[in-house]
Amino acid sequence: MIEPGQPFDCPQPITITKRAVETLLGFAREVYPEEASGVLGGNGSQITHAFLIPNGASDKLTRFSWKPEDFLKGLQQIKEHDLEWLGVFHSHPTSSSRPSRTDIDNWHYHSLSYWIVSLENKEEPILSLYRFLHGSFVEQDYRVVE
Ligand SMILES: [Zn+2]
Repeated sequence: MIEPGQPFDCPQPITITKRAVETLLGFAREVYPEEASGVLGGNGSQITHAFLIPNGASDKLTRFSWKPEDFLKGLQQIKEHDLEWLGVFHSHPTSSSRPSRTDIDNWHYHSLSYWIVSLENKEEPILSLYRFLHGSFVEQDYRVVE
């Protein structure tokens, strides 16, 4: 299918295009107050595309999970755009952008970038990037590029 990329192992720091940020913010607002989630594609350490995956959790207000077929569809879109799979995002509609205990426990693709957008303040969403290291998430800097 498609292997997870290694965006943190690139010599350049992580960047994300303005368009990808706007796309994922749009998804988060669209499904609010439910959690939005999906996969991110790009090249090397630059994320250029966000693809929404329907939330299959029974409690969509505080959880996200993916049905296998929806997950595969998300990865398929990355492949169709000739991109590498570089990350995953989800939204926290009413809480901060810090990963929850559930987020930590359910995360398996440790080489990928992990993004959380908080809509706690809906007017000023906060997008945070994390790297999984030694059993937990460590916040990382990133740059938004054109
Ligand atoms: Zn979460």
